[in-house]
Amino acid sequence: MKKTKIICTIGPASLSKEVLEEMYRAGMNGVRINTAYGDLDQYKTIVDNVRETADIPIIVDIKGPEIRLRAERRVIIQKGEVIEVGFNREEISFNHDFYDEVSVGDDIYIDNGRIRTRILEKVGGTLRLLVMNDGEIDDGKGVNIPNKQLSVPSLSKKDLEIIEFAKEYDVEFIALSFTRNAQDVENLKAEADGYKGGLIAKIENLEGVKNFREILDRVEGIMIARGDLGVEIELERVPLVQKSLIRLCNQRGKTVVTATDMLESMMYSPTPTRAEVSDVANAILDGTDAVMLSGETSIGKYPVKSVSMMSRIAKDVEVAVKSHVEDGRFINISDTVSKAIRNVCQNMPLDKVVTLTRSGYTAKMIARFRIPQPIIAVTPEERVKRQLELVFGVYPVHIDYRNEKDRILAVARMLHSMNLIDEEDTVLFTAAFRTVLKHASNLIEIHTIKELMNLAVR
Ligand code: PGA
Ligand code: MN
Repeated sequence: MKKTKIICTIGPASLSKEVLEEMYRAGMNGVRINTAYGDLDQYKTIVDNVRETADIPIIVDIKGPEIRLRAERRVIIQKGEVIEVGFNREEISFNHDFYDEVSVGDDIYIDNGRIRTRILEKVGGTLRLLVMNDGEIDDGKGVNIPNKQLSVPSLSKKDLEIIEFAKEYDVEFIALSFTRNAQDVENLKAEADGYKGGLIAKIENLEGVKNFREILDRVEGIMIARGDLGVEIELERVPLVQKSLIRLCNQRGKTVVTATDMLESMMYSPTPTRAEVSDVANAILDGTDAVMLSGETSIGKYPVKSVSMMSRIAKDVEVAVKSHVEDGRFINISDTVSKAIRNVCQNMPLDKVVTLTRSGYTAKMIARFRIPQPIIAVTPEERVKRQLELVFGVYPVHIDYRNEKDRILAVARMLHSMNLIDEEDTVLFTAAFRTVLKHASNLIEIHTIKELMNLAVR
């Protein structure tokens, strides 16, 4: 079984049940709906089809302060040409109004920096942009204005509708694009009042990188959104930023996703480049929990092949993964117990770790140590079960053990009957015993399964 988790962005190339089913069998662990494209009807179809296919998490990616182009149709543009872009649904327009915040001479990049333009003139509420290279512009393409802190609102009207959708369909995660600071997260929390899933902050500009710690405090997960990040900050800084953000997430047991351009050439080709294979492998070695596919699975020619390629790379490289977590100061009991478990795993032959976890926290705290043993996370909460699907090395199982007198024994029996543990296995169990505190897994028991079950019979 592979430990690295794979998230697939779903779009026209993959929203059918047939393709979803094939991608799931190839190793998909979660899906993303990129709401830059499509409409609520399409998102509903995706959610329904995913729910019928597999018990995996759905991430609804809202665009927040992200700036995008609106275009009535696709336009071919050439170097030297001047185009007019407005803010009011003209033929080509921006989705947010930042007219007063930019000046002549500022650079505006379109489509992850593929098209570079510069503001020549500001006239009557529209920008006249000098095009610096040949290309094509299309509805929904991303726009970057590097080194500007724009005061665009955290959430658009469309975002608010999508948040309602996320609540109604009870999706596992909402991802917020271009998270700039704690306030952006707090605004989302206020609007998403009553939403039960987790939040993922997408880090894609300098502000997000600078304010990373205050953002991390407030979310369950992080996405390193390299597509925009590579335009907003210098491209060559992306590799080290990736490493340091992953490290900070690992330290805190927060789920971290590395995204964009991972197998980009597989949009059109059945095999990736050597550099792409290395990129996926290196993200895993850096400590990412999940790797994400974007265009490869949403509009690419080879969605299933892209997933199987990623699975192959993951399985091969993850045996060499090492933890970068440092022994910091005391955080809580689960933190301390997870450190003890790491020591046990290093000091005796052990086949599996089983954690009884209500919120999923202890499972993530153990997983950050990248122990070689599989971590079976047993949770009574179905939503938590699906959320844990994104955590490296964790195999979540939904079992409601809350009314069992002997929880460890009951869980052992269930897992044995599900063939998830073997009679011959030596297993470490951890749980919160005689406590109602949060983050307080305070018990470690080590058993061979055969002995545990035999003792129980007597
Ligand atoms: P996007 O985010 O695909 O929604 O733009 C990911 C990225 O920017 O890398
Ligand atoms: Mn982006």
